[in-house]
Amino acid sequence: MPPNPVPSRTIKVAPLRCEFCDATTESEFLRHQLAMTHAQLRVTFLFCALFYLCFAATDLIWVGYSLKTCLLVGARIAVAAVVLTCLALLKRRPDSIPFTRVAANIVEVAGAAGFLLIAALRPTEFSLHAISMSIVVIVLYIYIPNRLIYAVTIAAAATAFFMLLAWQLGGMPTLELATMASLLALTNVFGYVAARRYQILWREEYSAQMVLKNLSVRDPLTGCYNRRHLHEQLLETEISRAQRYRLSLTVIMSDLDHFKAVNDTYGHYGGDAVLQRFAALLQSMTRDSIDSVVRYGGEEFLLILPETDLAGGELLAERLRQTLADTPVDHEGQQIHVTASFGVASVDFASSTHEAHDNMIAAADELLYAAKNSGRNRVCAQQLV
Ligand code: C2E
Ligand code: C2E
Ligand code: MG
Repeated sequence: MPPNPVPSRTIKVAPLRCEFCDATTESEFLRHQLAMTHAQLRVTFLFCALFYLCFAATDLIWVGYSLKTCLLVGARIAVAAVVLTCLALLKRRPDSIPFTRVAANIVEVAGAAGFLLIAALRPTEFSLHAISMSIVVIVLYIYIPNRLIYAVTIAAAATAFFMLLAWQLGGMPTLELATMASLLALTNVFGYVAARRYQILWREEYSAQMVLKNLSVRDPLTGCYNRRHLHEQLLETEISRAQRYRLSLTVIMSDLDHFKAVNDTYGHYGGDAVLQRFAALLQSMTRDSIDSVVRYGGEEFLLILPETDLAGGELLAERLRQTLADTPVDHEGQQIHVTASFGVASVDFASSTHEAHDNMIAAADELLYAAKNSGRNRVCAQQLV
């Protein structure tokens, strides 16, 4: 069987945190979402600044013109200033995920603290403040993209402080206080449930995209990368990296010997079993997440070995050749003996000005045919300059 292209452990979402269990997948997801997160933060931050400033009119209406009004308006301007500063800083650091998180948390804490101060300075209208508190809670959970655990902490703490203020300053009957507390607790629960749903939905959507993308870059029979992925991305990325850091890069072209005879003798299922076994050998004997194995043609496989010199590539090719020749493929109780030939081409970008793009593979292909012509089941290697 071909290896599963996306292991399920990488797409599992932790039910409480609502984040991918695998830290690498989570950070890739956050990077993927970054543009959308920024767009959402921009809209919400602007809305928050406007909300705080416009509602200064209610301070004048309820409190009249006094020192207290100046304090209230000052608190509103301070919140708006914090929000607008975060907005400006977000624009300067569009690539930073930690900074995005910090900005979201600062705005959430400043917004909640500013609101509680305003409520404390206008203690006669706690029933009305409770409506605003519900809006604040919903914004914290749903409209400011943040880690769920941070949103829960800030919203729950703000609600608890609000109830404390209502109890101490509001002069409300116990029944009214209890009703208010229940309604706000309910708002928190609804906010949490909605936020949780969003967090999980975004991650499920991302997982589905990841599975599809992986399927589109792999060969279904062997699980190796396909040729399209090699030419669209893999080769370009590895060559550019080797050129930039002046490293060695080695490619190995390999081809099963007399494969047509295998198909003729053991049928196509036998042929498929041999291809899968050879691919599995190439995958297991090379470095995961470093070396790449590509199904280049029918029975032709290409290995790309970053930061590996000619001697290293030759050594690996020899180890692969030997292992394949020594281990027959088991197919429906029959032992199929196969061998392969290998062409190894290497470039050292510290000393070479080689225009390596396509002719590195062409060189490995020529070396493979030299190996075939000199009797098969052997390795031919060459340093390209
Ligand atoms: P991996 O990097 O995915 O390598 C898988 C297998 O490829 C290795 O299994 C080994 O059979 C083969 N292989 C890769 N590079 C070399 C090499 O330079 N020389 C030889 N003789 N064989 C090589 P193995 O040995 O069971 O290692 C399993 C995993 O353990 C490796 O997976 C790698 O993650 C780690 N590992 C083992 N030795 C080293 C080491 O010296 N350095 C590093 N960084 N990791 C190592
Ligand atoms: P070694 O097995 O004699 O391999 C010598 C060199 O051949 C390695 O030097 C590397 O340049 C190349 N090479 C061999 N197998 C592979 C491979 O699967 N992939 C790639 N990209 N290159 C390969 P390097 O890297 O300096 O490693 C030095 C020694 O460290 C190796 O000598 C081996 O003894 C050990 N080693 C490194 N990684 C692994 C590993 O994953 N598994 C095992 N078993 N040994 C490892
Ligand atoms: Mg491997």
